[in-house]
Amino acid sequence: MFPKSLRPLLPYLKKYRRSYWWGGIFVLFMNAAWVLVPPIVGRAIDDMREAGISLHKIGIVALVLLLVSGTKAIFQFLIRWVVIGVSREIEFDLRNDLFRHLEGLSHSFYQRTRTGDIMAKATNDLNAVRMLLGPGFMYTANTVVFTAFALGFMLHISHRLTFYAFLPLPIVSIVIQYFGRRIHERFERIQAMFSEISARAQENFSGVRIIRAYAQEDAEIASFETANREYIARSLTLVRLMGMLWPTLETMLGLAIVLVLWLGGREVLLGRMTVGQFTAFNTFMVQLTWPIIALGWVINIFQRGTASLVRINQLMQEQPEIVDAPNVKAQAPEQQLTGDIEFRNLQFSYNGTPVLHDINLRVPAGSSLAIVGPTGSGKTTLVSLIPRIYDTEPGSVLIDGKPIREYPLAMLRRNIGFVPQETFLFGETIRENIAFGAPDATDHDVRWAAEAANIASEIEDFPEQYKTIVGERGITLSGGQKQRTAIARALIRNPRILVLDDALSSVDTQTEDKILNHLREVMQGRTTIFISHRVSTVRNADHIAVLHSGRIVEFGTHEDLISKNGYYSDLYNKQLLEEELAEVS
Ligand code: ADP
Repeated sequence: MFPKSLRPLLPYLKKYRRSYWWGGIFVLFMNAAWVLVPPIVGRAIDDMREAGISLHKIGIVALVLLLVSGTKAIFQFLIRWVVIGVSREIEFDLRNDLFRHLEGLSHSFYQRTRTGDIMAKATNDLNAVRMLLGPGFMYTANTVVFTAFALGFMLHISHRLTFYAFLPLPIVSIVIQYFGRRIHERFERIQAMFSEISARAQENFSGVRIIRAYAQEDAEIASFETANREYIARSLTLVRLMGMLWPTLETMLGLAIVLVLWLGGREVLLGRMTVGQFTAFNTFMVQLTWPIIALGWVINIFQRGTASLVRINQLMQEQPEIVDAPNVKAQAPEQQLTGDIEFRNLQFSYNGTPVLHDINLRVPAGSSLAIVGPTGSGKTTLVSLIPRIYDTEPGSVLIDGKPIREYPLAMLRRNIGFVPQETFLFGETIRENIAFGAPDATDHDVRWAAEAANIASEIEDFPEQYKTIVGERGITLSGGQKQRTAIARALIRNPRILVLDDALSSVDTQTEDKILNHLREVMQGRTTIFISHRVSTVRNADHIAVLHSGRIVEFGTHEDLISKNGYYSDLYNKQLLEEELAEVS
């Protein structure tokens, strides 16, 4: 009964059904008023033909028509107010629901989806759906109700003439089907291109520095123009189609009007119909022009809306891959972990490509582990498994002796301070960035975290200090400053486990040493895991693991590994040599 393509909207329509009912009632009233015009005019003509014209009669008819038009106008206003209003309400709900849904999706979704595509769906497609819910409903209801009412009156006047008037109707329904399908297809192609353009624009703005550095502005402008031209070309195919739809519909109507004039005139001549009835019938035909034009709109709005709904629904159908297992008991969110981490026979693959093999490793609570190894050996992947950015076999990552999947995700992540390799700052103040995960943090807490990350003095040298706006993605800060702000953001949450994924790569060795010394104090009794390339940084860790091609090939303290003459001791000797050379030069 309910169109399948609109099914995703059902909950929203249900929620606002009262408004739609009211809208429907107003549509009935408005058309009930409007449909009275032809009979009033018809009757007046017949009356005046029979009993003579008088100014008084004309005045009364004019007054009645005015009253009818006034009533129609009031209901027209009410319909717009209620129906367009409710479409905005649903748009509001849809946008919120979409955002909430997107916030819950896993890392992997964002890896395979372009931001511009999501943005296009959340704006442009949402707009098309709103049009469907507001004007789409309004025009459909008006067209259906008015045509039904008019049909009743017209049948009352003459069955035969009504039959002729509606003779082109089967052709109209074929036209609607033909155009509807094509509008849908073309609009899908238009929206896909709009997504492409949005994605391209978004990538250009984010990558503006690279584009400048490689002087690729002109090339980018040209390629954008090509995409833009394709978008317009696709849009024009729809314009042409719509350009054909209206004349086709109006031709059908014109055909009906000619039939009515010709055959109706004959009826009058034969005395089977009065002039008044004939006029009334023709007035109905004129009044039907608008519903027919609206029909064109309805087809357009409906097809666009459903095409966009499919696109939005694709996003809504995405399931977060990493969620709480059903049997995870809700635990108090503030519950603290001790911080004993264990990887047990861990294997991990990205879409079937194995990356980590047979990892067995234990990091006792309160200790520190450094991970070193060549690029691509799987270091980032390994630490990403701790806060469940990716999931692997159940039971292969344990914290405090329990598989991490048995902890509520929110609680697990609240206990882990994770600083990824690429820092991301929000375009807000430094204070807001540091206190991002700790909304209740006081100024004192923010300062403490900044000090622990060894960035406080630099922030305090800025004119606006902690209120300095860092620009989009923190563009106004240096790489090292961004990294330290990100560390402060992790520390302020007082995590039981701190994970630094090469998070100090942009600071010099001395600063790195300073920060790590400080961190040792701050993280006393807590677990720290950090990835680094610098032996000087790594050497003080309680344990060091060397990862190579996804396997742990060396494990122990600095001294243990030096004596092994393996990857680590090579790295150590190389860096020692580099330092000596640096001192000499
Ligand atoms: P490291 O941190 O040691 O440089 P990574 O853990 O980043 O290594 O990467 C290990 C391997 O996994 C690399 O071969 C890399 O290409 C691959 N890899 C990393 N991330 C992904 C991903 N999201 N999807 C598919 N492969 C990935």
